[in-house]
Amino acid sequence: MSFEGLLLIDGEMTAGEAGAAGAWIDSEDPATLEVIGRVPAATAGDVDRAVRVAADAQREWARRSVWERAALLRTLASAIRARGAEILVLEARDTGNTIGKLQADVQIAAAYLEYFAGLGSELKGETIPATAAGLHFTLREPFGVVARIVPFNHPFMFAAAHLAAPLMAGNAVVVKTPETSPLSGSLLGELCRDVLPRGLVNIVHGHGAGAGDALVRHPLVRRVGFTGSVATGLAIQRAAASAAVKHVTLELGGKNPLIVFPDADLDRVVDMAIAGMNFSWAGQSCGSTSRLLLHESVYATVVERVAVRMANIKLGSPLDPASEMGPVNSARQHERVMQFIASARAEGARLVTGGRRPPGEVFARGHWIEPTLFADVTPGMRIAREEIFGPVVCALRWSSEAEAVAMANDSDYGLTASIFTHDLEVALRMMRAIQAGTVWINTAGQHFVGTPFGGWKDSGVGGEECLEELLSYSQIKAVHALP
Ligand code: NAD
Repeated sequence: MSFEGLLLIDGEMTAGEAGAAGAWIDSEDPATLEVIGRVPAATAGDVDRAVRVAADAQREWARRSVWERAALLRTLASAIRARGAEILVLEARDTGNTIGKLQADVQIAAAYLEYFAGLGSELKGETIPATAAGLHFTLREPFGVVARIVPFNHPFMFAAAHLAAPLMAGNAVVVKTPETSPLSGSLLGELCRDVLPRGLVNIVHGHGAGAGDALVRHPLVRRVGFTGSVATGLAIQRAAASAAVKHVTLELGGKNPLIVFPDADLDRVVDMAIAGMNFSWAGQSCGSTSRLLLHESVYATVVERVAVRMANIKLGSPLDPASEMGPVNSARQHERVMQFIASARAEGARLVTGGRRPPGEVFARGHWIEPTLFADVTPGMRIAREEIFGPVVCALRWSSEAEAVAMANDSDYGLTASIFTHDLEVALRMMRAIQAGTVWINTAGQHFVGTPFGGWKDSGVGGEECLEELLSYSQIKAVHALP
């Protein structure tokens, strides 16, 4: 298979200046290292054109009623579902994510378009009794052109779902796909070309430092929504600030604690420790529960039971519905995760399971790593502090509630936390004490449409998947009419 992905600019799939200059990015199947396609690496000129046509299309779009916008978002959702099977296969090959669970990504993308389509009438202002005789009210207006920059772990889902809020709020969007898994972005481009007004959505592929940076700095882009790593989030804030005053929201990484109290239901804990790690994504999820913080009385049991489950995870081709985990996404990811494993060993953590390339001919090529559990990890170790973004879990031991809170919060990240206890008072105290944007009690990992998902501390700025996301793509105008 060789898939030639193109840019969507001004309603046409095009190779752009990049293609003409021969600047392409090859995309490999991380399970086999076979090159399965390529995309043009958009130049600054391609990005400029995408933004300018978006700005033109936006003016007409903003004049449409929310009902007209909603109808087109729903049509896009249906078009995504209709090509779901094709998207799924391409995405599984291009990312290494296993196809069984990946099916949900296509549905989630469509569901977010429908969810935000239904929220259009919430783009409302307020009347304020500022004077006795006057009329004082607020309007919510679009920014114009919005940039949405997407990471490699859910490329299609993020690219498609992240169109919804800005479009509903009356903006045009330029999406930048991730360079290691860009192919499904081209299918999304075809769907947008077929369904939406010309130029309203433009999709560019390319490197972060090239196309991504040019998009962030573009003078017509006043609103940037970014999902990715902390380092890139900081670079984007700096680049945006050096170009103009821009509204930047960031959905970044996590080092998420799963905290287990002595009274917890350990069957559930073990299930959720596995589910929360998102092994179908080879642990490459911002919300992965990568820090098990276990009370000393249950520590040995939980470590042993989680290790058995991890050792039995079925690795295999991302295209096989029976596979429970594929390879990590890229050579860069593989090297990074293996370095963390080496550093954990060097710092004295105890390797309980995994830690290497799986044995067997099938795994000899490709970016494969066994699900890996380290025990006897202490809070100062690198694997306890940094986001690994791979199939690596570390277990830490605590003996008092205060110690559990301190350990959980001893992190630059604050994305999610899970608390396992049946003691309501403990759960309520912990829920308040934890510094994170999402806290789960007796569960882990699930997202619930309509509730905010966003990080504290270095995990981000802003909340998504809820009304706040829609409103964040509008700016407020105050109007005063006096007799
Ligand atoms: P990344 O930061 O390396 O890249 C993300 C995107 O940013 C890519 O499209 C990349 O090309 C682009 N980019 C890179 N440098 C840029 C620059 N200077 N200017 C503009 N764009 C630039 O992240 P990744 O490795 O693709 O994804 C993994 C990270 O994403 C993890 O840290 C993970 O936790 C995070 N993530 C967060 C969430 C969330 O909702 N909080 C969801 C998924 C992933």
